[in-house]
Amino acid sequence: MIQKIKGTMDILPDETPLFRYIEGIMREEAERYGFGEIRTPTFENTDLFVRGVGDTTDVVQKEMYTFTDRDENRSISLRPEGTASVARALIEHGKCVDTMPQKYYYIISCFRHEAPQAGRSREFFQFGTEMFGADSPAADATSISLAASVIRRLGLTNVKLHMNSIGCKECRPQYRDALVSYFSKYKGELCETCNKRLETNPLRLLDCKSKICSEIAKGAPKTLDHLCDKCKNHFDSLCQYLDAMNIEYTVDPTIVRGLDYYTGTVFEFIAEGIAAQSTVCGGGRYDGLVESLGGPALSGIGFAMGLTRIILAMKQLGTDKVEIANPKLYIASLGDKAALKALEIAERLRRQGTFVECDIMGRSLKAQMKYANKLNAEYTLIIGDSEVESGKAQLRDMKNGTQEELELDSFTI
Ligand code: ATP
Ligand code: MG
Repeated sequence: MIQKIKGTMDILPDETPLFRYIEGIMREEAERYGFGEIRTPTFENTDLFVRGVGDTTDVVQKEMYTFTDRDENRSISLRPEGTASVARALIEHGKCVDTMPQKYYYIISCFRHEAPQAGRSREFFQFGTEMFGADSPAADATSISLAASVIRRLGLTNVKLHMNSIGCKECRPQYRDALVSYFSKYKGELCETCNKRLETNPLRLLDCKSKICSEIAKGAPKTLDHLCDKCKNHFDSLCQYLDAMNIEYTVDPTIVRGLDYYTGTVFEFIAEGIAAQSTVCGGGRYDGLVESLGGPALSGIGFAMGLTRIILAMKQLGTDKVEIANPKLYIASLGDKAALKALEIAERLRRQGTFVECDIMGRSLKAQMKYANKLNAEYTLIIGDSEVESGKAQLRDMKNGTQEELELDSFTI
């Protein structure tokens, strides 16, 4: 028996309605904020992610699904996230010189070779938005407001916004030095990965999940104390906007984000009461990304929300139940002539857009009625030889048991 690959999932028809409900809200909200849907390829040149996501990140170093293409000796990767592809498409289609801001959203699957567990899989689903060309704190506030409104509409009262600023080209190097000199004192205690990070990407040390490292990180210098005036004003002003918009947040110096392209504002929406994999959404500003991919200097801000993590947070509140559509009518039939008539009626009603089921299993009448109940059909119609002959039958309302006679060839429901 061949089974699915570890870390992937089948989503069966009893679960897809929940996914569709969530996706529907995401699409609706994104479009209300003026974001247009973009679809980019599932795989790209590996270089795009090496440059876009960053070659010192875990995603690029350890998690990417990379292979050599068959017809050309080039390296291809399944997308581990969506932002780099959207930035590439923006440049490739000349949108960098179009009217700003450029606003895009997507619902995609991403691929990362991680240790599978609840809320962490190797193929996972993201709702993401990207806004290019708007530098103002009002743009940050708009992006955050969109994420918050999706979370609000999903009823996720257990999910809270955490924000930080990690500075820009001007102030980051100085902060980086402060971090390196702080963490260097603990070289012997840090985990192996963090000892490497100390040289390649010291900001990532703040993100380490190991107990000792996160304990040491608590005493580390805070980005907010090292921001240049421009970054500081930007962040203060963002806070003012969110206050005015009535969007709750916590300033949280531990938020640094896993990908290299972030600058300035970074944020996460975290589900309270879920121990691991509690970050349902991560985002921030990435003002250097477009330029680093060969485009003009163009600012950007965006976020990505993990669908399975959203579902975990909904499950915690018990709000993960959505209605599954049930048939309007079940047509039971007895005998060949009646079966023919049943399918004829079903066809006529289906062409009118009605959800109709009828017997195609040759079941007994009793078994058909049992099945109609299982399907939770609103109405049933029983057709035998005499109904075929008279052209009339009784329509039964399954909720209150009332019956009504109708003309088989012309009734609508
Ligand atoms: P984490 O710290 O949990 O690994 P990340 O920083 O790697 O997250 P991002 O790259 O920012 O995550 O992705 C945005 C969102 O996508 C995350 O907040 C999460 O909801 C979701 N996500 C990321 N990786 C996975 C995964 N392997 N399985 C399921 N969802 C994921
Ligand atoms: Mg990760």
